[in-house]
Amino acid sequence: MFKRVVIIFWILFSFQLSFGQGIGYKDKYARGLYDKALKGLNDLKCSESLLYSQQLLEYALKKNKYDMAAASYNIIGLNFEEFGDLKKSIQYYNSGVSYARLAKNDTIANYLYNNIGNLYYFKLKDSKKGLHYYQKSYGLSKRIDTKRDIAFAEINLADVYLDLKEYKKANYYLQLVEKKMAPNDYEMGMSYYSLMGYYYEMQNDFLNAEKNYLKCISDFKFQEFEYHKSHQLDIYGMVYNFYKKQNKIKEALYYLEKHDQLQDELFSKERNIEIKMAGGDIEALEYKYKVQQIENEKKIQEQKINSSTRFNKVVLIFLGFVIVFSIFIFKAFVNYKSLSKKLADYNYQLQVAREKSEEATRLKTQFLSNVSHELRTPLYGVIGMAEILESEHKEIKKSPYFNALKFSSHYLLTLINDVLNVYKIEDNDIEFNYENINIREEIGHIKESMNVIAKSNKNEIIVSISDDIPQFIKTDLTRFSQILINLVSNALKFTKKGKVTLSLSFDKKDDNTFLKLEVLDTGIGIPEEYLDKIFEKFVQVDVNLQEQYKGTGLGLSIVKRLVELFKGSISVESKIREGSKFTVWFPYLKADEIVVLEQQKANPQTKLKNLNILVVEDNKINQMVTQKLLEKNGHKFQMAENGLEALLLVEENKFDVILMDINMPVMNGIEASIKIRNLGIKTPIIALTASDKENILKEILEKKNGLTDVLVKPFEYGDLENVILRYI
Ligand code: ADP
Repeated sequence: MFKRVVIIFWILFSFQLSFGQGIGYKDKYARGLYDKALKGLNDLKCSESLLYSQQLLEYALKKNKYDMAAASYNIIGLNFEEFGDLKKSIQYYNSGVSYARLAKNDTIANYLYNNIGNLYYFKLKDSKKGLHYYQKSYGLSKRIDTKRDIAFAEINLADVYLDLKEYKKANYYLQLVEKKMAPNDYEMGMSYYSLMGYYYEMQNDFLNAEKNYLKCISDFKFQEFEYHKSHQLDIYGMVYNFYKKQNKIKEALYYLEKHDQLQDELFSKERNIEIKMAGGDIEALEYKYKVQQIENEKKIQEQKINSSTRFNKVVLIFLGFVIVFSIFIFKAFVNYKSLSKKLADYNYQLQVAREKSEEATRLKTQFLSNVSHELRTPLYGVIGMAEILESEHKEIKKSPYFNALKFSSHYLLTLINDVLNVYKIEDNDIEFNYENINIREEIGHIKESMNVIAKSNKNEIIVSISDDIPQFIKTDLTRFSQILINLVSNALKFTKKGKVTLSLSFDKKDDNTFLKLEVLDTGIGIPEEYLDKIFEKFVQVDVNLQEQYKGTGLGLSIVKRLVELFKGSISVESKIREGSKFTVWFPYLKADEIVVLEQQKANPQTKLKNLNILVVEDNKINQMVTQKLLEKNGHKFQMAENGLEALLLVEENKFDVILMDINMPVMNGIEASIKIRNLGIKTPIIALTASDKENILKEILEKKNGLTDVLVKPFEYGDLENVILRYI
């Protein structure tokens, strides 16, 4: 229990020195606050210390002085550590490190790393983590090259190595310390002699151990600060232990008594309460400072202006009677003007902050859209080429390498799509497109598309749609299908030789009618402790349980967000080895009556055949892939390398449809489409793009550029056929 020594407070002294030197502030106000905060901590008057360090932090943030902010966080962290709120303490030290890094200030970063190391090592008893931070601190201290800082870093390393029973290394660092230690440096001496004592004790050299321990204790009288007492407390503990092990009961009892006396002196409950209260303020300050500060000040100014305006009116009325008061009115007017100006300033600042944040969001969105484009284009090539290989060399299907290639490329595509989907939803970049759909038919299509996965795990899919569900409902088909496909494919993934039942019925909740969709499986189930978590991003059940399944852990988080966008809700029930049931409630929307009638009359879809298609595409690999896709489905086609070539071809030929890539050299797809329309040609033009950003797609279609629809690459033949069918 009393094994090792706490040397947390050494840094305070050197820190005080470096505040003026290493950090170099000439700001008297800041310096004053810092000194008071430090003194409060030295005297263990923590609420006082926190009050000043909080003021210093506020001042530092306002002035964008990051090293000053880092210094404030260091003291705040130390205060919290003193009373055992270690979580907060680490949090504050880490904030300090971030600011020190921003300020590129190695000195403060060094102190902070050292303190984090101390905390892990002494308080959390995690020597390895402690060592990690001490090494960081040691590296920085050598860069700064102040002898005393280096020596303290070496003391810390020696201490951890003693704890790890690596006595040679410990001794090595203690020797380095001895060379650097000044004879009257009692603070360093306290650490050094106590560690030497412990080192000799571990070597069973009790004589030298006792000598060092006693030297350490005899120097206590030279240590002036309150905070040294924490350190002394631990040393009394160590020495008590030492004598106890030697069976020297009298000496042991003597030091135990010293230890207990000091402990009583040091800890009092009131301080603990004080520090907790002050902590709340700092947290609030830390998180809300930047925007709230500006907004608060703006509010105050607004209030002042309102009251000032009211005051103006009263004075004006009074002016009719008493001319003398005109002076007051004038003053009020001036006041009003200056307040208005201040308000305008604050408004301006707010606007700048808002614009900055909008710019950041725009950049993020643009980045995602670019990444999506860059990744999808080559992936279209990879997936398409694999399909061509497969259709031309049937024997390749047996090759495990080929299958691995196919699996990896499809997996990569799912991953990219999932990641993009999550960010699109988070950016609110999803617009719902409600349409009337034939629900039984659509669920039938989904079932068909899931049959391949069902077969691979020998599962049966059962669809049960309650009789009272009408033929048509109104929903966003793409998002509805996305939810359904995710849930059914999960059910099929995690079930073997079982059943997956998909049922749809009406359900009433608080007088509202909902469509209740249930996906029930007889698979491996989900452990109870995961039921709350699986809707979070990247969460997957323990790999040991579900080792053979691969996924991204994003599917359910996308489902949940989409369901929320529908203003619906989702829940899950599950039992291990019995199965899982996901239930989704969608608010029910009736289909438009006219559409219902029209669609009921409509013919079932016909297959497309023998179309003459113009493909405008500059990427050679993608050309090949599209060519094969069209040939396989019995269409004729011509290929154009860019917009200009396309323009020449449409003048001489008649096409049923044009597939137009957007980004191309010489003439891009949009320009080409406008020119084609200017020639009076009405052929449907389907834009091909690798970006699936909703706003880009919308932009492509909304501008009067002649494009009929958009298809996102990589697409399958079914997607292409659906789009073409709509316009032919
Ligand atoms: P992914 O399936 O890509 O890993 P999801 O977000 O769709 O990601 O699912 C998260 C996790 O929830 C899965 O990895 C799996 O552990 C668990 N899970 C989801 N659906 C089921 C199910 N029907 N049966 C068993 N476990 C499931």
